[in-house]
Amino acid sequence: MRMNPFEQDLSARLAELSSAGLRRKLTPLEGGQGTHIQIEGRSYLNFSSNDYLGLAQHPALKAAAIRAIEQFGTGSGASRLICGSVSPHTTLEARLAQFKGTEASLSFTTGYAATLGTIGALLEKDDILIVDKLVHACVIDAARLCGARLRVFKHNDLEDLADILKWADAQAVGEKRPRVLVVSESVFSMDGDVAPLKELVELKDRHGAWLMVDEAHATGLFGIRRSGLAEATGVSGRIEIQMGTLGKALGSSGGYIAGSKSLIDLLVNKARSFIFSTAPVPAAAAAATAAIELVSGPEGEKLAGQLWSNLESLAGYLPQQAKPTSAIVPILIGAEQAALDCAQKLRDAGFFIPAIRYPTVARGKARLRVTVSAAHTEAELASLGQALLAGKVGA
Ligand code: PMP
Repeated sequence: MRMNPFEQDLSARLAELSSAGLRRKLTPLEGGQGTHIQIEGRSYLNFSSNDYLGLAQHPALKAAAIRAIEQFGTGSGASRLICGSVSPHTTLEARLAQFKGTEASLSFTTGYAATLGTIGALLEKDDILIVDKLVHACVIDAARLCGARLRVFKHNDLEDLADILKWADAQAVGEKRPRVLVVSESVFSMDGDVAPLKELVELKDRHGAWLMVDEAHATGLFGIRRSGLAEATGVSGRIEIQMGTLGKALGSSGGYIAGSKSLIDLLVNKARSFIFSTAPVPAAAAAATAAIELVSGPEGEKLAGQLWSNLESLAGYLPQQAKPTSAIVPILIGAEQAALDCAQKLRDAGFFIPAIRYPTVARGKARLRVTVSAAHTEAELASLGQALLAGKVGA
């Protein structure tokens, strides 16, 4: 049968992706997420999840979600500005603000939506957005949407950032200065390294710029309350916009912005992904609140300790790799197809580890992204370490 032009166009583009080793497909799981997953009747050890503390299966989170469903139902009905704001959201936001050490916070359906809405609310066309080269796609998409002038500084390179900030200072016309927002992750999602937060704060202060820090992969790992690197570095109060997700170490789903009361007030009025989207389900908010309670208390301390000790154990098998600075252990391969082949070899040996390729990382910088959880056992880490050694991958 002849394909119509629409189908022809799609097939040609999919064939192009396949031949470049960039075609992606979904892997159906039988059952849920955890350190063990089932695919086509076989069990695999899962080293692909961002559920760093194993909370997505924690009884306290499940109980909180079930209670919320029983009390508030499954759906939210509409945007909170339309149909009112139920208590799971306001309770979560008060708890998040306390956790992050800020005056206020606002929750969104995803971290992606939080970033998109926030940058869009803060910047206009002539403003300037300066981002680390390795920031998440949601920041780049936000830049496209808000139309601000985008400048990219070399990864974690303070000198390069200082040069761009000097250029930004020179863009003032008379008394009118464009808004200047610097965005960095605190833990980088595909490299697992950390940003020099203290220095970033000092630099942006010297130039009167604002800083937004994405703590998606730092939550649960750093700080006395384990709220992230901003807390651990002691600079929470000097970062204008703290962003994070509820779907990684917090074991639920959603995203948030933490900051001043006026920031949150402005977002309620201007963040389009908040205003024009149905509120997150109450169960997700309730589970996230239970997670914050847990993460910031003694059980969180124990779990984070276990996670760091698991990371040390795995590092023992990977002498060529830099010591892990977060729960993300990238094993650089290079070519896209080679990374796919490595992931398949590990899959055959019973390990589920994603090959991360363009456009998530730069072309030719494909890698295996191993993520470690507090829920992995010593024996599971040893078996992964041995498989990597045997395959001479990253070892
Ligand atoms: N920022 C970073 C650094 C991320 O890794 C992610 C998720 N991959 C997001 C933002 C988006 O968060 P969410 O998954 O909640 O949309």
